[in-house]
Amino acid sequence: MDNAEQKRVVVVGAGWAGLGAAYHLARQGYAVTLLEAGPYPGGLVAGWQTAQGRAVEAGIHGFWYPYRNIFALTDHLGLQPFTGWTRSAQYSPQGLEVESPIFQAQPYLPTPLGTFLYTDFKRLPLLDRLSALPLLQALIDFDNSDEAWQRYDRITARELFRQYGVSARLYRESFEPMLLVGLFAPGEQCSAAAALGMLYYFILAHQPDFDVRWCRGTVGAQIFRPWTQAIEQAGGKILANHRVTDVQVEQNRVTAVFCGDAGFETDAVVFAMGITGLKKIVEQSRTLKERQEFRDLRNLGGIDVLATRLWLDRKVDISRPSNACFGFHPTTGWTFFDLNALHDEYQDEPGTVVEVDYYHANQLLPLDDDQVLRQVHQDLAGCIPAFGAAKILDASVVRIPQGVTHFAPGSHRFLLPATTSFDNLFMAGDWIVNRHGSWSQEKAYVTGLEAANRVIATLHQGQPAEILPVMPDEPHIQALRAGHRWLKQGWPAWSSFWLP
Ligand SMILES: Cc1cc2nc3c(=O)[nH]c(=O)nc-3n(C[C@H](O)[C@H](O)[C@H](O)COP(=O)(O)OP(=O)(O)OC[C@H]3O[C@@H](n4cnc5c(N)ncnc54)[C@H](O)[C@@H]3O)c2cc1C
Repeated sequence: MDNAEQKRVVVVGAGWAGLGAAYHLARQGYAVTLLEAGPYPGGLVAGWQTAQGRAVEAGIHGFWYPYRNIFALTDHLGLQPFTGWTRSAQYSPQGLEVESPIFQAQPYLPTPLGTFLYTDFKRLPLLDRLSALPLLQALIDFDNSDEAWQRYDRITARELFRQYGVSARLYRESFEPMLLVGLFAPGEQCSAAAALGMLYYFILAHQPDFDVRWCRGTVGAQIFRPWTQAIEQAGGKILANHRVTDVQVEQNRVTAVFCGDAGFETDAVVFAMGITGLKKIVEQSRTLKERQEFRDLRNLGGIDVLATRLWLDRKVDISRPSNACFGFHPTTGWTFFDLNALHDEYQDEPGTVVEVDYYHANQLLPLDDDQVLRQVHQDLAGCIPAFGAAKILDASVVRIPQGVTHFAPGSHRFLLPATTSFDNLFMAGDWIVNRHGSWSQEKAYVTGLEAANRVIATLHQGQPAEILPVMPDEPHIQALRAGHRWLKQGWPAWSSFWLP
């Protein structure tokens, strides 16, 4: 294509969302410039090497069974970055609490029977598990529509579980730990809508949904490095250490994006940074501050996360590669991963390499590295006593203040959709309002493709990206949802009588 005709797009933020938008648009012939504030692409999933040459990353990331678009991307790139499907476990200070099988290897049962019957709870009594059944009514009612989000977003997840009669023990030992690792916050700080959406997508929609695999090294090395090379081969420019500070607007179109004094002229823009990053730009930008939708972002927040990696002097027997832990800290969830089992480079390591990540780690962030590592060591030994005798030979501690999206009660009305009040500025990221139904990395990638498709529809160049929908609801769920809708339509006055 003649350079004079080539349309220009600036994408801001090189996480899953920004890379997804940039790759598709570069392949459609756009002159793409991807501006990334950090030193490496990857965003929250970035990986890098320590001064000692050890591979580290901003927390380890799982790829769940329903991540269809990400799996399609790695196939398209010709990559085989993943382990097989893995089994996981949960620990409390009392020891091993739960083991999950590989659900797709079990005889298929209509949801939620498989999750209910195949999960091996070591201590939780049947009566407590049965107390989850009435919650199905809310899961049927919550259909991911805007109306459902508005209705459920104003109450907390804890309140929802209480209303539906979930037992105190089931909440403490099962639902709250899932919220802490899935939404990064305790139940009283999570939107009930986000809790229902997340639980349905990752666990309940289909029996195999909770099956997970991991990269065989850092996601940075296994996926982002070859992917960024493919973006550059398609003509895209990736500029790290470029923090966007402002935009220039003419006739309601963003015509340039600024990193300090350096300006990048453009025909369209995709903002693909997290909430905290965007709030910082708005604070500095007179243009964005003038718009209510961007000012409103101050009602949103991020959550602190802490990611640590330990190299130990001996092998500790860890029965499952991925483990979630609860009951150690009142408002913090944590996970640990056996990297000797997951990462190729540590398979033959004489000692154990373990990743330990803390979510909603506010009170841990101010500690210095030694204090953090003491806490990590103590927590690991609380799950598997053999960790207590192991010595830490080397470690990395990564603090991510306000890094992940906080789906707080009442936050939905301030989250941005993909389109903005500017004609050519589109939004992407795991916190954007869309109707796809996915979460986390898969959602971020899907919103990047959705934003690319909006650029294409606006600038009329190239073909839209194919986006795989989430798997349809199982037939009995579809029937229950249809019946429920029919009842609601029959008694509209009744359904609007109660406070949502
Ligand atoms: C410890 C941890 C564990 C997680 N575990 C999982 C998991 O197991 N599975 C899963 O699916 N998800 C997991 N997640 C969530 C997942 O990482 C995110 O959902 C996903 O990475 C979000 O991608 P994104 O592209 O929306 O945003 P980000 O990854 O946040 O990318 C945004 C980018 O924008 C850049 N940026 C910000 N401001 C500017 C600016 N002014 N100018 C230029 N660039 C800017 C940032 O530097 C960043 O690179 C985890 C997250 C963490 C932190």
